[in-house]
Amino acid sequence: MKLPPLDYALPRSLDEAIALLSESEGQAKLLAGGQSLMPTLAFRLATPALLIDLAAIPGLDRIEITAAGVRLGARVRWVDIEQSEPLRTAHPLLVAAMAHVAHYQIRNRGTVGGSLAHADPAAEWPGLCVTCDAIIEVIGPAGSRLIEAGAFFSGPLSTHLAEAEIITSITLPAWPRGRRWGFQEFSRRRGDFALAGIALHYDTDAAGRVLDPHIGVIGACHSPHRLRAAEQAISGQVLDDVLIEACAQAGSAEVDPPTDLHGSARYRRALVHAMLSRALQQA
Ligand SMILES: Cc1cc2nc3c(=O)[nH]c(=O)nc-3n(C[C@H](O)[C@H](O)[C@H](O)COP(=O)(O)OP(=O)(O)OC[C@H]3O[C@@H](n4cnc5c(N)ncnc54)[C@H](O)[C@@H]3O)c2cc1C
Repeated sequence: MKLPPLDYALPRSLDEAIALLSESEGQAKLLAGGQSLMPTLAFRLATPALLIDLAAIPGLDRIEITAAGVRLGARVRWVDIEQSEPLRTAHPLLVAAMAHVAHYQIRNRGTVGGSLAHADPAAEWPGLCVTCDAIIEVIGPAGSRLIEAGAFFSGPLSTHLAEAEIITSITLPAWPRGRRWGFQEFSRRRGDFALAGIALHYDTDAAGRVLDPHIGVIGACHSPHRLRAAEQAISGQVLDDVLIEACAQAGSAEVDPPTDLHGSARYRRALVHAMLSRALQQA
């Protein structure tokens, strides 16, 4: 289907984009990669009067790796991450998760900012941000503010972004040497959204005990979140098969998955158990 009639703007600065957003009084939509927005427009699920394209705003496509962590500009695309050699050591979990995002053509356009704003509960990146304690920087008419990823999502396809706010960057805290990680998801076909997935990382002490585990779930939930009971099950322990099973059971018990045409809640809970167990074995 063709898009509804609308105006198009290509601002050259964030200030210009914010002014356009504010003046539109809710009638404008930001355009990044267009991979979710374009189908939404085609299906008339949104009918904005104006599209504000972020493509000409300088700096939003930058990847910076510093002692503080990895900072991704909002317009960094999945392929930019996938093809970044320095990111393989700076954040191996991030790079590994990219292999599961959609197909090459979509990864060539889709952006980290667009994915967060779209807030699909089955998308890899929002789940990764919650798992890794990412900080999201947004800017609006009142200035800029930082939002913890864990407090960013308010439900399926919804966030705590204010009307005229724009995501400008996302920072993942620094990745210590020797950190263990796992990423596992199940989808019906390669490139499909996950029916359930797990991202996790933890550090270890000299005796091999698990320190500061972070376990996040995607797909089998209304928005991505940490599995606190599962984290507690392994914290301070040396992992073995018995503990992995206990952790997988704790994780699957604390999700409240939806039932839809792709799978029942019971099936998704079983998937969380399997993915969590595999991710820990991978780690
Ligand atoms: C067939 C198909 C399969 C897909 N499979 C997957 C998958 O397996 N996993 C996955 O994670 N994703 C998947 N995607 C989604 C894709 O990866 C993109 O991440 C997603 O479409 C959003 O990114 P975008 O840059 O295209 O955003 P757009 O479509 O341009 O925008 C999405 C929303 O975000 C808003 N927005 C964009 N940028 C900003 C910003 N900087 N600040 C505030 N709001 C903003 C827009 O106004 C819009 O509401 C799939 C998409 C398609 C079409």
